[in-house]
Amino acid sequence: MGPEPGAAVIGRRIDGKHPDKRYLYPMRKRQFFFLPGKQDYRSFCSRYPNRRTAMMPSKESRLSATQILSNREICPGYFRMRIACDQVYQDAIPGQFVMVRLVGQASPLLRRPFSIHDLILEENRVTGFDILYKIIGAGTEALSMSRTGDIVDVLGPLGRGFSTRGDFGRVHMVAGGIGVAPLVFLTNHMVRQGLSSSQITLFIGGRSCGDLLCLEIFERLGIQIKVTTDDGSAGDQCLVTQPLGEALRQQKPEILFACGPMPMLREVVAISEIALVSS
Ligand SMILES: Cc1cc2nc3c(=O)[nH]c(=O)nc-3n(C[C@H](O)[C@H](O)[C@H](O)COP(=O)(O)OP(=O)(O)OC[C@H]3O[C@@H](n4cnc5c(N)ncnc54)[C@H](O)[C@@H]3O)c2cc1C
Repeated sequence: MGPEPGAAVIGRRIDGKHPDKRYLYPMRKRQFFFLPGKQDYRSFCSRYPNRRTAMMPSKESRLSATQILSNREICPGYFRMRIACDQVYQDAIPGQFVMVRLVGQASPLLRRPFSIHDLILEENRVTGFDILYKIIGAGTEALSMSRTGDIVDVLGPLGRGFSTRGDFGRVHMVAGGIGVAPLVFLTNHMVRQGLSSSQITLFIGGRSCGDLLCLEIFERLGIQIKVTTDDGSAGDQCLVTQPLGEALRQQKPEILFACGPMPMLREVVAISEIALVSS
């Protein structure tokens, strides 16, 4: 199961400065936050009427009809699609997403949201981006059947993305299933910003070994990886939050990024709070 709509991305400081669970980044004037649900969205808007929300297109977002450069099934049920883009994406931030639908198909009518999996850079200029997606229903099924050269209608980049500014000594990332999608972009972005890959640890969990994606990418980048599966077919047989809890008891990172299903995100928040109390 992929991340639930509206709850896909958490970037949470665990230095205790911002203990309000609903706000996932430090609050500064004119910033907004990724909101976990409709209720929170309403209360946020009434409390902060002048702040933009993560779901609203900013002035940098653009609607464009653009070409699919490739669309490959990387393992059963999971596809990586490369989409051409213009320079608007040069400043895309990890954790931001795009809304995509195939042009020329009446159904599904609405665009579907996908995290930017990575940017394609040629001589430091962005020429495209990847999305990584799991087949869930009609929209993703249709995307999976599309071919190189087909045209997609893309709105993006959307959302605030992860907050990667700051001097981080140690970074933890937690991925549940398809929640790994934005973490490749995040890792590459942090490495480009000068963070050493040895400072990053990825905790990645899936139902089975077939749901563990992008491991070879992270291995190539040289970051530390802790693997878990629900059925024990790869790594430790436990939830991904178990090794995370153990690691947090030993050494606290400056920041923790997580993306995955809502129950995992709740547990990550709870664990990081316990780690704070005991430190
Ligand atoms: C900000 C954001 C970023 C996302 N990034 C990614 C990404 O990078 N890769 C990716 O694969 N998915 C991602 N998703 C989820 C993705 O948008 C949905 O899987 C997709 O919209 C499903 O569309 P569909 O037409 O195939 O399924 P639909 O026909 O819309 O749904 C089919 C069934 O699946 C259920 N369903 C739909 N989405 C989900 C879900 N996420 N989890 C559990 N059940 C669901 C529906 O309730 C429905 O019953 C993201 C979602 C959000 C909100």
